[in-house]
Amino acid sequence: KFKPFGYTKHVQTVCPYCGVGCTLNLKVVDNKITDVFSTEGNVNDNLLCVKGRFAYDFVSSPDRLTTPLIRKDGVLQEASWEEAISLVAQKLKEAKQEGPQAVAGLSSARCTNEDNYVFQKFIRTVGESNNVDHCARLCHASTVAGLAKSFGSGAMTNSIEEIDVMDVILVSGSNTTETHPVIGAKIKQRKAQGAALIVAEPRKIELANYADVYLQIKPGTNVALFNGLMRAILDAGLEDKTFINERTEGFEAFLEFMDTLTVEKCAEICGVDPEEMRKAGVLYATKDRGGIFYSMGVTQFSTGTDGVMSTANLAMLTGKIGREGCGVNPLRGQNNVQGACDMGALPGDLPGYQKTANPEAVEKFEKAWDAKLPQNTGKTLTEIIDGVGDKTIKFLYVMGENPMVSDPNTNHVKESLENANFIVVQDIFLTETTEYADVVLPAHVYAEKDGTFTNTERRIQLLRKAVDAPGVAKNDWEIIGMIAKEMGVKGFDFNSASEIMEEISSVTPSYTGVSHERLSNGDRIQWPCLSKDSEGAKFLHAGKFTRGLGAFMIADYIPPEDQADDEYPLILMTGRILEHYHTRTMTKRTPGIEAIAGDAFVEINPAKALEYGIAEGDMIHVTSPRGSVSAKTRFNDGIMENNLFMPFHYGDGGANCLTGGAVDPIAKIPPLKVSKVRITK
Ligand code: SF4
Repeated sequence: KFKPFGYTKHVQTVCPYCGVGCTLNLKVVDNKITDVFSTEGNVNDNLLCVKGRFAYDFVSSPDRLTTPLIRKDGVLQEASWEEAISLVAQKLKEAKQEGPQAVAGLSSARCTNEDNYVFQKFIRTVGESNNVDHCARLCHASTVAGLAKSFGSGAMTNSIEEIDVMDVILVSGSNTTETHPVIGAKIKQRKAQGAALIVAEPRKIELANYADVYLQIKPGTNVALFNGLMRAILDAGLEDKTFINERTEGFEAFLEFMDTLTVEKCAEICGVDPEEMRKAGVLYATKDRGGIFYSMGVTQFSTGTDGVMSTANLAMLTGKIGREGCGVNPLRGQNNVQGACDMGALPGDLPGYQKTANPEAVEKFEKAWDAKLPQNTGKTLTEIIDGVGDKTIKFLYVMGENPMVSDPNTNHVKESLENANFIVVQDIFLTETTEYADVVLPAHVYAEKDGTFTNTERRIQLLRKAVDAPGVAKNDWEIIGMIAKEMGVKGFDFNSASEIMEEISSVTPSYTGVSHERLSNGDRIQWPCLSKDSEGAKFLHAGKFTRGLGAFMIADYIPPEDQADDEYPLILMTGRILEHYHTRTMTKRTPGIEAIAGDAFVEINPAKALEYGIAEGDMIHVTSPRGSVSAKTRFNDGIMENNLFMPFHYGDGGANCLTGGAVDPIAKIPPLKVSKVRITK
């Protein structure tokens, strides 16, 4: 179509950053985004944070990948699609000769539901492997595992709008105003309207300034925290006996376990005043409607699943689940991490959490996909990286992930990738991970594609294409389809994202009623959406839990593996900051954001800095048993004297050089929040 110079249009789509899923209206002039604004009536009610509002320069960045690249003589060189796809297919065929464990894929919480669905279908049918995972393993794998055990499904039980009716809000393990800014703003608004606010965090985060009770717990003591709150509630006789009798099971055994605990004992573990712990427990229990909000400060431990099940115990003990304004709310980090899990980008789950170990589920998908499927549980993300290093995995397909920055123990990841047999990376920029790729395939960004993201409150939202992609970059699902075609495998001949959603809805019960047509007509849908005329569920577990009765799960406090000692006397926590998103591939390309948050830093308590003779802004070395990094100090008297904090966004010797250790035995999530370290000026 003829488009005159200065051609302007507005396109409504979804923010590519955090799991809130704010609606963005992109102003596009001559195929370039020139402004972003929002409108009322969406999840964000007109609010946007600095990332969604300003960080769009990356879309038209000159750094974008515009053509496939193949490594020749150690250097990535431009290639045609035909050459690149042919090489990838040949390497995949060779790897398959070694057996199903030899193929693996890392899918992406930054890609659409449609991309993720096609990716996991590809690894399972073309790769004949369940070795498919994504970085949910690093953030909310313990939520998926823990809430599934307690309730039967692992997702946020409330909607964001229900914050407006909560009488008490308990935030733990979430720096909400920085990591989910619009939800953080809504919590502050609700507090201003009179709701009670309880915050339990090792760092004195912004929300702590508004809290009725702030518990500055030691890192890694969440299980003791929740047990202490529940002990206080039981001591005061404030448990909801009717709810417990009618809706739950396992309470007697749970009570026996709770009888071994005291508030004083739990408070001592957490390093807080037992009276404040009692006050918090009683405050939560005595308000009618209450929500618990948590994120990676609960999940990223070797006891992450226990921490998650403890939040569920607390909600069930007080009957604060299954009603409007009552629930347990894991705040999902990336824009589509909920959707990537829903789509089966997990080693033990087919779409809709239908298990790969369940013969009936496997048979259903074999019929639907006309393929023979593996019946095992595949390798998790960290196991895949190990397998690449020891060459049991010969073919690794990475779509939109950057494990060199996001994964724990960077030195180990580097060794593995250096040792790899063959790696193909599909992305929008060269990253720290493409340095180890044999083939790089250029993909579309959010503003160049149609599709859907599922936000943290299970809401499925439509992305609309606003601009054309640079060069010969393609949709992720199209690229996967090209490789499948080259391999001679059918089932990937999709013509549009909408067509892919039709297939998703035919095999995924919770997405049965979802279609692009409905979404583009303005239907607002949150899963489970079981029919074409359903809007799904505003809150989960009304009347009945997904698993029938809610299960009280016993979780005793187990100290983190990393404990401060003479050699490593401090504990480092890692996390996110407001300005940056994940591994910074997108946000670092907005000059204004880089101007205010361009460098890595280490937060340290000024009293501890004085002990070491360190001034604010000094460069220090931080060393753990796994590696060493250097960064500038930033003083924060809201951090405990024996703790440090570093954001993990920064590559090139970033915070994840220091993290690692034993994973959670159930969810296999690594303990990213607690690393023992020493510092030198
Ligand atoms: Fe909304 Fe999150 Fe995007 Fe900020 S980053 S605009 S809070 S979706």
